[in-house]
Amino acid sequence: MMPDGPAGYPERSKRSIREQPGVRRAVSAATRTFDGGREAAWREIDAARWRDWLRDVKRHALTHLDRYLEVAERAMERNGVRVHWAETAADALDVLDGIVRAAGVKRAVKAKSMLTEELGVNAFLESHDVTVRETDLGEYIIQLLGQPPSHIVGPAIHLSVEDCRQLFARVLGTPPDATPDALAAAARAALRTEFLKADLGISGGNFLAAETGTVALIENEGNIRLSTSAPRIHVAMVGIEKLVPRFVDLSAFLQLTSRSATGQPIGNYVSLIQGPRGDDERDGPEEMHVVLVDNGRTRVLADDRAWEALRCVRCGACLNICPVYRQTGGHPYGFTYSGPIGAILAPGLLGLEEAMPLPYASSLCGACADVCPVRIPIPDLLLYWRERAVEAGLVPSAERAAMHGFAVAAERPTLFHLAGAALRAASSPIGRRSLPVLGGWTDERLAPSFSPKPFHRLWREGIE
Ligand code: SF4
Repeated sequence: MMPDGPAGYPERSKRSIREQPGVRRAVSAATRTFDGGREAAWREIDAARWRDWLRDVKRHALTHLDRYLEVAERAMERNGVRVHWAETAADALDVLDGIVRAAGVKRAVKAKSMLTEELGVNAFLESHDVTVRETDLGEYIIQLLGQPPSHIVGPAIHLSVEDCRQLFARVLGTPPDATPDALAAAARAALRTEFLKADLGISGGNFLAAETGTVALIENEGNIRLSTSAPRIHVAMVGIEKLVPRFVDLSAFLQLTSRSATGQPIGNYVSLIQGPRGDDERDGPEEMHVVLVDNGRTRVLADDRAWEALRCVRCGACLNICPVYRQTGGHPYGFTYSGPIGAILAPGLLGLEEAMPLPYASSLCGACADVCPVRIPIPDLLLYWRERAVEAGLVPSAERAAMHGFAVAAERPTLFHLAGAALRAASSPIGRRSLPVLGGWTDERLAPSFSPKPFHRLWREGIE
């Protein structure tokens, strides 16, 4: 299911906090566990140096992307891979349609891939009479519920075990008190037959090594390996920003992504896929296609501030530590990518107007930048998009007038002191109610009491 679009973020997040306390509990608990794992896993290595190195390699790859894309294309073609280019989501779906029609595909299995969510692959294939089954356990669960992912790494992070128990009892006939292991076993049994029946396996690509044309995929469940090797056709849909120059670069990227995502030194399974089954091989697909997808990435790359967001390796660490994301999970954002990375990617990929108000869905505490393994300056980019939103007249006029008034007062000390005195005098009648313009802060919590003395006087007198 496709997300609803960012415009309804304020209402959806309010509703989630008020009406779905279980979501807040589940998301908070899971993200704290993920983040604790990341912290411990980073302590085992010289994380600062690894992060610098990953940032520099990605920076180099992105600033020479045209060259590396051609290198990658040549390497993949040498390996027997059919390479396709897709400028837009519609182009990517057209390519998929051509493959499906030519091969008479009726059933597809899918490995977890945020890009395919972004493109709307499932809905497209279903509308073309192809049955699609998600095979990652979390994706399988949300597909059964008809929901989009709530997190980049843990799509069903917003659900409790009890939610899954009830769902599986209804769909798979498991006992109502089934243990988590029994639920996983039931899903595995149901999915096993799907792998065997599918003509087509669809994956994303965590990384693409240009030098060798290797698509690298990390996972924990083994479903990616089955999706990419059991069906007779494998299609990997890869965003053009996923390139790294050399095969050897994969080593550090795979490890630091896993450490940042879940705290594992590396995922349980790493697949390095370099082409279809060879003449002397028994396993693997007969055909392998790689679709290199732009869908707005070149536009982001051309923006001399926003382009840094393209370094993202989709580890989810910024979501896990974000105090805003933790309250609601990903659904209220209304965009495939939620949390801090979603808030800076949406304006570039969707256009600023359509992405509003996501650049404001942050407290700017800076925790996201502290945990990003590729050192994306997320708070700076949030401020950048906010500046652009103000320039474009996309923020409410009352807020613009209030900020303008503050700027005028802040530049004139006498006026500033007078305004402060007036606010203090008015503070008793206002009380601690919801305030105009500041409603976003004061609707859900009490406004702080005003200090009886202004800060500059407290400072002069010596703050206790
Ligand atoms: S922005 Fe950084 S922390 Fe967030 S998902 Fe991307 S790589 Fe991970």
